[in-house]
Amino acid sequence: MPIPYRNRKIKTLEDLDLQEKKVFLRVDFNVPLSNGKISDDTRIQAALPTLRFLLEAKAKMVIASHLGRPKGKVDPKYSLFPVAEHLAELLRQEVAFTDESIGNGVRRILSDASSPKMILLENLRFHPEEEGNSLKFAMELKNGCDVYLSDAFGALHRAHASTDALPRKFSDRGIGFLVKKELQALSPLLGQPERPFSVLLGGAKISDKLKVIEKLITKVDELYLGGAMVFTFLKALGRKVGNSLVEDSFVPHAIRILNTAKGRNIRIYLPSDFVLGKSVESPGEAKLESGRDIPDGWMGLDIGPKTIEQFSEGLKKAKTLFWNGPMGLFEKPPFDRGTIEIAKNISELKSFRVVGGGDSVAALSMAKVTEKIDHVSTGGGATLEFVEGLPLPGLESLAV
Ligand code: AMP
Repeated sequence: MPIPYRNRKIKTLEDLDLQEKKVFLRVDFNVPLSNGKISDDTRIQAALPTLRFLLEAKAKMVIASHLGRPKGKVDPKYSLFPVAEHLAELLRQEVAFTDESIGNGVRRILSDASSPKMILLENLRFHPEEEGNSLKFAMELKNGCDVYLSDAFGALHRAHASTDALPRKFSDRGIGFLVKKELQALSPLLGQPERPFSVLLGGAKISDKLKVIEKLITKVDELYLGGAMVFTFLKALGRKVGNSLVEDSFVPHAIRILNTAKGRNIRIYLPSDFVLGKSVESPGEAKLESGRDIPDGWMGLDIGPKTIEQFSEGLKKAKTLFWNGPMGLFEKPPFDRGTIEIAKNISELKSFRVVGGGDSVAALSMAKVTEKIDHVSTGGGATLEFVEGLPLPGLESLAV
């Protein structure tokens, strides 16, 4: 059944005739690599149901992704070759790898009936035309394919050639299982979430989350804030912030958000104690601050035990919960404690819980509770923009 999308519909792979078709499949294989090896294959695993479905349908697939930020130039460090090898192992199927995304080499493999069913193109972002949303490049990518499918949730907020110009050139276009699952899980947050609806936001910068906070403040019942961005709010409330990360130019925005919340009777929870360190690079020994004022010469690097308890207790009230962003400098123990404890406590709740964003998803995995969460979103920016209610270019181009 097609999925409703902003007064239109988006077809799923089950709504399209894929039998023995040539399918262009946009995936998000933007995996972390260290020394040429994949250090976390979650994003590849997430696309397997769609790939298996297409293999079953005897479709021939042109699989395309970006990896890292090579800025429109060929850079072997960002080659998708290790992904092709890993994919072949995971599916026990041959995967042809092309060292270009377009051109004669790709055409030759595609038209050769004896070539493998899966063809992985080299990193789309080796071509400046990808991020430039070039129609000419899109037409070259199309390469005689019959159907376009997107399973690249993490790339849907970008209007690039492979997510915007290209799908518009297909009359048969739709989404794979991963994007379908994301839309089904995230849509209730935008529509009619079961109430109380609570949102927990963290991370370093209020500037990145400003729009989503402004949108959510009109929808949520309770908003919990952690991470370095709370210091901009505390400064707005006249508190001492020491050397904590503050975005001074956003203090007026913080005041506006606090006033909007008050006017709407929405409770914003700010941390009431902190774990302090000396700096982000070398935090030194941790020290507990039992109040909201950060002493001179110190930085708030994590929420304290009282806050962990208050947030965890408060979040129990929610029937729907969305979490994005770490509570502190979670990459550096002991400043990971707030984020990990919150992850564990969320995992025990009965509510419908959606977690999105790379850091929060990593924290779930560090706390070994990923499996207990109702929906772990694979998108960072895409998840936030979707929850903000913004039209995503990669969905706009698919809707019919
Ligand atoms: P963002 O990209 O804005 O979601 O921020 C994520 C980053 O914020 C992570 O790398 C965290 O280590 C960092 N972070 C969260 N809280 C703090 C804090 N209190 N002080 C410094 N960095 C923080």
